[in-house]
Amino acid sequence: MGDSIRIMAGAAFAGFACLAAPAAFAQGDMADVEIVTHQLADGLYYLEGQGGNIAVSVGDDGVLIVDDQFAPLSEKIMAAIGALSDHPVRFVVNTHHHGDHTGGNANFAAAGATILAHDNVRQRVAGNFGDDPVPANALPILTFSEDITFHFNGEEIRVHHVAPAHTDGDSFVYFVNADVIHTGDVFRTTSYPAADANGGGSLFGIIDAYGVLQDMMGVDTRLLPGHGVLSRPDDLAAQLAMIQDIRANVDAAKAEGKSLEETLAMGITDEYDERWSSGRWNAEYLITTLYEGAP
Ligand SMILES: [Zn+2]
Repeated sequence: MGDSIRIMAGAAFAGFACLAAPAAFAQGDMADVEIVTHQLADGLYYLEGQGGNIAVSVGDDGVLIVDDQFAPLSEKIMAAIGALSDHPVRFVVNTHHHGDHTGGNANFAAAGATILAHDNVRQRVAGNFGDDPVPANALPILTFSEDITFHFNGEEIRVHHVAPAHTDGDSFVYFVNADVIHTGDVFRTTSYPAADANGGGSLFGIIDAYGVLQDMMGVDTRLLPGHGVLSRPDDLAAQLAMIQDIRANVDAAKAEGKSLEETLAMGITDEYDERWSSGRWNAEYLITTLYEGAP
């Protein structure tokens, strides 16, 4: 499996490159990445490696995972899952199309898993490979338009489409009994909210999606973000309050007739930047998007 995994790595990066700065992985060298397993509940875990957090449901029905990081990590991810269950991975749910969440699709499908995602994810995963041929099995073979529910391992696993948000194919995956929601990249704790406009995303859609998430959640719900640390409702509320505060100040500046340049110079996000401004998802991106009102 090693050779085929490496060949696919480069293509997966091509799609991912627009969203983050994977300079450290430009060689496709993930030899040092370790997969760390965390337990969320009986039969429910998440794996950290490089790329999006992976949720893992294990039990008598088999294994279901949410997202699968990069192709070069598939063997390590499969080994980590193998330590939790003797059963095969039957289903992979993709929260969205980005290569750090779908790069392992072809490997998991080759090992027998069925890949499932929103309709738009199928087209956009194909786009991840640019002009290169799309590897066999890389695309979700089951797609849905709004919602789908698994009844699996004694869990009710609701996959709920919310878009446009981070992209136009996002889903939340709610493990109802465990009371854990994998949010994909709609909610993350590593930067300001990240809307991939090229992938059909919208910052304003993310703000709306936070409201959807709040309606789904109870006081004890835990959020597994696409990137970052396990979070609570208060963490989401704080992030939403931050965005609303910044948005109100940008709107006020605009109403006073300030130009975008003048608004950017006002220091509106100064108190938040150290914690939240990161890479492409920085203060300039945030203020510019709010000022321009799209996407
Ligand atoms: Zn993403």
